[in-house]
Amino acid sequence: QVVLGIESSCDESAAALVRSDRTIIAQAIASQDEAHRPYGGVVPEIAARAHAQVLTPMIAQVLAQAGMELDDVDAIAATAGPGLIGGVMVGLVTGKALAMASDRPLIAVNHLEGHALSARLCDETLQFPFLLLLVSGGHCQILAVHGPGQYRRLATTIDDALGEAFDKTAKILGLGYPGGPAVERLAAMGDAAAVPLPRPLKGSAEPHFSFAGLKSAVMRAHQSGEHLPEDIAAAFQQAAIDCVLDRTARALMTERVTERGMTALVVAGGVAANRRLRAALDEQAATHGLRLVAPPLALCTDNAAMIAWAGLERMAAGLVPPGGDRLDIMARPRWPLDSDAAPARGAGV
Ligand code: ATP
Ligand code: MG
Ligand code: FE
Repeated sequence: QVVLGIESSCDESAAALVRSDRTIIAQAIASQDEAHRPYGGVVPEIAARAHAQVLTPMIAQVLAQAGMELDDVDAIAATAGPGLIGGVMVGLVTGKALAMASDRPLIAVNHLEGHALSARLCDETLQFPFLLLLVSGGHCQILAVHGPGQYRRLATTIDDALGEAFDKTAKILGLGYPGGPAVERLAAMGDAAAVPLPRPLKGSAEPHFSFAGLKSAVMRAHQSGEHLPEDIAAAFQQAAIDCVLDRTARALMTERVTERGMTALVVAGGVAANRRLRAALDEQAATHGLRLVAPPLALCTDNAAMIAWAGLERMAAGLVPPGGDRLDIMARPRWPLDSDAAPARGAGV
């Protein structure tokens, strides 16, 4: 089976054709970094307009690249949330129109489920259940993943997401947008020990996250004028990783993961592209008798292959109604992974 995936929840417009044997037949991605850079962050209206402009020709291009027609596709999977609502609407409505025109089922995919299952697209040996560390621009969570549509959230952030903390640190240091990769590059040249920074919630009983205090400390360190930017970047990255390791260790302990039959720790979402974080988690997983599964960098940040793959997983799990998800399904700005698996009708915008 082949699924066409469409992604438009933030500032990446993407389309991909993925087969159930895990082949990414063709894919395209257009980042809007240039359009948003002058504003230091994503401007929702600009994002929605850009998606509307590029998505349809991009889908035609991906089909052409694969030598396929819409008729050769078995289903159309589009991100239905969570995300910037204008952009999500553009991608979802595009998916609905294509589903109608081709008489193929629509699959409304939760963007976070795309991230969550991306590791299974690149690693066919990864079985359920597994422990998932989801670290992206808008989320920072630890979940027990038991199957498509089956998520139990163990921890979340009480303030900022991890990617948000990277982006805010980049902004403070004047590194521009997007921030994560820029902070990682600068940190490689700095001395993390040169700037003392806090580790919020380290050692606390619940495995939750907090990064707002760390960001404020970065701001104070910068304003003091006493530190080099590369040292601040290195210290921030180290503090953030220490927090993630401590919180993940807490979840691994309280969940008694091996007793529950889990053999893998999975990291997904944009921040999973951070090499220092991947290396640290790899080591940590090993000390807990688990292996770390981290998707290749291009599958960590937003893409449409993971949306198509989530659609394939949902079909295989019997979660897609015979004619597909209903065409009156609404785009949802918020949509927790551990709520009901299907998007509520009429509950969106
Ligand atoms: P969500 O998935 O929560 O809706 P999103 O889709 O905007 O949010 P992603 O595209 O998954 O987020 O991830 C983008 C985030 O990842 C940004 O905050 C970015 O700074 C961060 N990021 C990307 N690469 C790196 C890196 N190498 N190191 C640290 N952070 C990174
Ligand atoms: Mg982006
Ligand atoms: Fe994302």
